[in-house]
Amino acid sequence: MSLHIDTPLLESRSLSLANGQQIWLKMDALQPCGSFKLRGIGLACEHFARQGKRRFVSSSGGNAGIAVAYAGRCLGLPVTVVVPQTTTERARRLIRQENAEVIVHGKLWQEANELALSLVGADDAFIHPFDDPLLWQGHASLVDEVAKAGVKPDAVVVAVGGGGLLSGVGEGLRRNGWSDVPVFAVETRGAASLAAAMDKGELVSIDCVTSVATSLGAKRVCDEAFRISQQMNVISHVVSDVQALDACERFLSDHRVLVEPACGAALALAYAPSEALRRYRRVLVVVCGGVTASIEQIREWRKTAD
Ligand SMILES: *Cc1c(COP(=O)(O)O)cnc(C)c1O
Repeated sequence: MSLHIDTPLLESRSLSLANGQQIWLKMDALQPCGSFKLRGIGLACEHFARQGKRRFVSSSGGNAGIAVAYAGRCLGLPVTVVVPQTTTERARRLIRQENAEVIVHGKLWQEANELALSLVGADDAFIHPFDDPLLWQGHASLVDEVAKAGVKPDAVVVAVGGGGLLSGVGEGLRRNGWSDVPVFAVETRGAASLAAAMDKGELVSIDCVTSVATSLGAKRVCDEAFRISQQMNVISHVVSDVQALDACERFLSDHRVLVEPACGAALALAYAPSEALRRYRRVLVVVCGGVTASIEQIREWRKTAD
């Protein structure tokens, strides 16, 4: 038994008809805590619990922190999440709702993260939001499920933040003998750290994150994500916040599921396929989910986004 569930794999009739392609959706928005993060974080937390760790510590005010809190509750272990003041009331509530302790510290994430690290004792495990091989191994189960369903995609579309999901999808493709399948790695403008690294041909950081897709807001992707972008067939694609927000709205209307702009970024490419994506007959979109934005917030952002 794992903490995550097997999620539905659905063909989107509306997208398939609109694009003249088969568009398949891997519905990880339906994970118990609302995002794919539970796959890797659940696996990591189970691993650390078996090792005898007695508490989990995280510094993510987003879906990673929520997944750690959920995993801790399921495993009967306490969780402490240190978040900066900028973390929304909604996110704090979602973490507390899983019985985790929320400590608010510092203006920026770096300060919250430093405090979190200083709290990690010998019996505690620190759970990173994207940079840990255990996470990638867990995220890869998403591809295993698609393989088990017998639906081999001709291309995969995935959103990229710190690159944990991309690393997991890469591992999943490899371990199912699908290394030849191209991966469209989508980011929003203002959070495009993978695009910056691929442009330069080396792992670089972006100066600041300005996108509303806060779950994509890593200034630098992990080494593994960059390595995969160089070794596998990865095509970088950048969308605007407006495109990501509109995709959230359309997806809610088409499939009755609300996702964050981070996930809307991947959906935006499916709603407006690039020339490069159009070439593929059967496309798998990873609907990575996310619970930190309400529909009111998404509509509010839409008024001022560009
Ligand atoms: C974390 C997250 C991402 C990005 O995943 P990375 O592993 O950081 O690349 C995308 N969408 C949602 C909803 C997320 O929670």
